[in-house]
Amino acid sequence: MRVLKKTQFPKRLRGRIENEKQLRELVFWTVEVIPKDIKRKLGLQVREWRERLAEMLFSKHRDMVGKDWVQVVSVIEDEIISGRFKEELEKRKLQEYEENKRLLESVESRIGRRISINPNIPGKVFITALTEQLTPLVDVKVEAPLLSRALSNDLLEELARYYAQHHIWVLVREFIKGNRDSLSIEVVLEKPFMTYCPICKDFAEGSEYLYEEAFPDDYFAYWIANLVKHYRHEHIRYYDLSWRYWSYGDKNPEYQKLGHDGFRITVNNRAKRQLIRAILKDENLSAYGKRELILAVLRLQHNDEKTVELVKKALQKIEQADEEKF
Ligand SMILES: [Zn+2]
Repeated sequence: MRVLKKTQFPKRLRGRIENEKQLRELVFWTVEVIPKDIKRKLGLQVREWRERLAEMLFSKHRDMVGKDWVQVVSVIEDEIISGRFKEELEKRKLQEYEENKRLLESVESRIGRRISINPNIPGKVFITALTEQLTPLVDVKVEAPLLSRALSNDLLEELARYYAQHHIWVLVREFIKGNRDSLSIEVVLEKPFMTYCPICKDFAEGSEYLYEEAFPDDYFAYWIANLVKHYRHEHIRYYDLSWRYWSYGDKNPEYQKLGHDGFRITVNNRAKRQLIRAILKDENLSAYGKRELILAVLRLQHNDEKTVELVKKALQKIEQADEEKF
């Protein structure tokens, strides 16, 4: 067993791994610092390498939270070096192919017509292609109690279509098992996982931690917290670069001065303010949606004075705009 030197890792990753985010960070570091010759031995490109690690992390290493990072790194390294992981991936791919093929055949025999999908495509793409072809057969009704007042109808429909596809997938399975004659489904979007971003004008991927642990009962706080996280990783580059690469972090005076946590708080506050500005201007959000989202900023941690001040101003603006309308 070969374990990386402690000094190669950032201080905050020493000791026990407290949550999934830290584990993810740790795996990223492992990718960055594992010597190149091991990569060469496996004949992997850096991108593939990262993808495989990410998959491994999600499928197998969730239970590593709570363990010491040295243990985790050793397990990860061992698996990669022995090549066991690679073989397992190949096996999984083959299983998926067989499963897709079986599903396609049973759907075809059930609806009595051929469906043209190449089953030799990875699971997610296959399911999407299948449900798209089945959509005309399905009657979908959508309800979104939390969002119907906050988002424009167009966006609501877009989101509903996305979720409906997933429900259709569940239904296709049921329909095969239960021999149903028609597909009629109702999608109730109580708390969508994806959240609308006023900067992208599109839905951003959700966060399991924020959804299930941090804000299980406060949807608007989840929404804005998820956007802050999304902003940090998708809308700016300097945040990820600073913690991922020594060379970059070393040259970033702000990162050096504030430390990892302080830097994150500063970047989060910047993100909050940019998001508030974008929310105010957004045409897909109703006055109600804007107000709820901006108010929710106050329920997030570590707001600085500038952010709190902007929240107050933004709320006043929404009130004024509301009054002008009537
Ligand atoms: Zn965005």
